[in-house]
Amino acid sequence: MQETTYDVIVVGAGFAGVACAQALARHGARVCVIDRKRDLGERLHTTGILVAEALHHPCLAGLPAALVRAVPHARLYAPSLRSVLLAAPGYRFYTTDTPALMRWLGEGLVQRGIALRLGTPFRDGVREGAHWRLPGIGRTRWLVGADGAKSRVAARLGLGQVDRWLQGVEHEFDGVALREPDALHCFISKRYAPGYIGWVAQTPTGVQAGLARRHLPGSTAVPDIDGFLRHTAAMTGLPASRRPDSIRAGLIPCGGPVHLRQRGRVLLAGDAAGMVSPVTAGGIHAGLRHGSAVGEAMARRLQHPGEGDVHVATDAVPAFRTKRALRWAFDHAQFDAPFDLALRTPFMRRLAEQLYFHQRGHGVPEPDTGVPVQHD
Ligand SMILES: Cc1cc2nc3c(=O)[nH]c(=O)nc-3n(C[C@H](O)[C@H](O)[C@H](O)COP(=O)(O)OP(=O)(O)OC[C@H]3O[C@@H](n4cnc5c(N)ncnc54)[C@H](O)[C@@H]3O)c2cc1C
Repeated sequence: MQETTYDVIVVGAGFAGVACAQALARHGARVCVIDRKRDLGERLHTTGILVAEALHHPCLAGLPAALVRAVPHARLYAPSLRSVLLAAPGYRFYTTDTPALMRWLGEGLVQRGIALRLGTPFRDGVREGAHWRLPGIGRTRWLVGADGAKSRVAARLGLGQVDRWLQGVEHEFDGVALREPDALHCFISKRYAPGYIGWVAQTPTGVQAGLARRHLPGSTAVPDIDGFLRHTAAMTGLPASRRPDSIRAGLIPCGGPVHLRQRGRVLLAGDAAGMVSPVTAGGIHAGLRHGSAVGEAMARRLQHPGEGDVHVATDAVPAFRTKRALRWAFDHAQFDAPFDLALRTPFMRRLAEQLYFHQRGHGVPEPDTGVPVQHD
């Protein structure tokens, strides 16, 4: 059977792959997106919390309101479970009905004339003259690996690979309400989340509660989410005995961008390229932006083939220097006592608001929610 020839095949229909494909399609490129999943809403490995800026990304234009829930505050808990409420006027996080969001993004690809092939894993690529051939899938002039933190495209085709991760696990509880649903609850704890935090959030469909910790290659330690849920139950109102309706888990790159993100006509995007904030571990907005930048740069190259090999959008690649330094500090010198002592000081509060709200933080009065907050 004759294999179809595309301008670009994108491996992975996550945030980065969708953004890349849509940018290319806007410029008239012939694009195919493949994903090994049969249903984009299955086997998720993200909480799906969006920063407010992400909603301005073109891929999320027209997102149905039912798929998101605005969360205006963050409540940050010290290891002792003392907490402080953080906010910035007008700023919101958005939790999502993530399975529905991923399916909606997939439908958007098809509506834009992009070939979407689900249940189609990338296994290998073979060079044939100016093209790559993906056996059983098709031929392409350019190939994009947007296939996540353990990119097979990078591994098979000799590009840089992510080598530092956090390991995240999350329990979902359908139809449950938190005591304080308008806050994203974040817990600092060396015991439960060494190297990162635990979180609990109200979503459009229930509650998600998760933990991430440093992932050391070869280590079999897994986040103690049951212990974490028992430890925090009095704060969140989540019944500690309730079994989860579903579980999400995965690795989160935390070492900054990989060095070799392009080799000839193969490029990496999103998690595969290490585009995740080493401090917040937020990769959705970064993946959307990076995917778009990669797509735009390839589209220019397809329109002007005489310009030589594209070196893609280096200006859109954040170096995360300060955040990598903070990550180093957190990895090597995380102690509970300073957080217990300092969390409620104005300096720490301001610092935390800057990290959470990108320097738009101002204190807000505590709402009367009945949360059993421990005060000094
Ligand atoms: C537990 C957890 C919670 C998180 N929570 C948040 C959060 O709340 N907010 C936030 O901003 N970030 C969060 N992150 C990080 C964020 O989810 C990722 O940075 C983001 O999803 C990256 O998008 P991506 O498109 O690069 O990769 P992915 O979302 O990983 O998408 C990769 C796609 O490629 C497909 N694929 C993989 N291998 C192959 C193959 N061989 N062939 C074909 N298809 C393949 C996969 O099926 C998948 O659909 C979280 C991560 C984890 C692990």
